Amino acid sequence: MAENGMPIVDTAVEIAKAYDTLQYLMGMVEVDAMERRQIQTSAGSIPVSIVGGFLGAGKTTLLRRLLIAPHNMHITAIVNDFADLNIDAELIADVADDAIALTNGCVCCSQSGGIARVLTKLTADTSVPELVLLETSGVADVWAVAQTVESLPGFRIDCVTTVVDAAAVAYSGKVDYLLQRQTVAADLLLLNKMDLVSPATAAEAETRLEQLAPRAQILRTIDCAVPHDVILSPRYHASGELGRSIVDDSHFSALRLVIDGPIDRTVLERCLSALPSGVLRIKGFLRLSDSPNCLQALQVVGRRWRLNPVENEVSSEGQLVVIGLEGAMEKNLVQAHFAPAGFQVLSL
Ligand SMILES: [Zn+2]
Repeated sequence: MAENGMPIVDTAVEIAKAYDTLQYLMGMVEVDAMERRQIQTSAGSIPVSIVGGFLGAGKTTLLRRLLIAPHNMHITAIVNDFADLNIDAELIADVADDAIALTNGCVCCSQSGGIARVLTKLTADTSVPELVLLETSGVADVWAVAQTVESLPGFRIDCVTTVVDAAAVAYSGKVDYLLQRQTVAADLLLLNKMDLVSPATAAEAETRLEQLAPRAQILRTIDCAVPHDVILSPRYHASGELGRSIVDDSHFSALRLVIDGPIDRTVLERCLSALPSGVLRIKGFLRLSDSPNCLQALQVVGRRWRLNPVENEVSSEGQLVVIGLEGAMEKNLVQAHFAPAGFQVLSL
């Protein structure tokens, strides 16, 4: 324990333990994974690994890691965003050989036909992928996505991974319902952002996940740092019947913020320090006036936010997507909040 009572040492021990577990798992799966994959690929179906989790949990971070890793496979990444602007697809564009953006609806509900079309089209490609990585939208019912994929001839699910923000395991209302559905369907749960929570919060979060998904394996992560083999190994178990979700993408809404030219850092900080109520998530690309040559990816989750430099060019520069619960996020409040900083608000 540190002097002020913050259990810093405990966190370090927890992280070390988590890494021990990962080392062990790596040893276990590395030899096995290729063998199992060869047997299953010979059966003729294309494996799909589903990555789900609520808005801002870290799904795209995980996807980037998996695509960068030395996997020696032809992977096609499908990135779904229920808004018509796909920021996540642009965030993986520089590391993916094949990336397909699926926008304008969520793959568990309004775009379930879209995912079926995209996947079926892959089977006709001259170079059929050895693995499909499917990142669902943050509002997707992961169980329903798995049902859709399972029903498609020529495909099988390898693994359903749900990324969970350790600091946000207890929401309320519709969001909590969705979090439960995303968790129950998982084979693997990444309790992510461990660097942002106390050991007590982490333990509480883990207990809740264990109760929701007793068969899933839970790994504690920072920035989704897991050996790629852990995720890319087949381990799917079909979860029981959950029935149709009472929450779909119509319960969430998105707005687009557009800014012309760089923004002052202080102005941006002020803007993000007190967001209008109902805003759950903001993501997009902009430039700061103190470093106009450097494009930045802005990620806002709840009250936390961060900027990361982006190397590649993106088509949605100067644009942000703001996501909130339908009815709880008012367009004119968002407009009034961001307009003084130079943003224009558009409906999506
Ligand atoms: Zn959906």
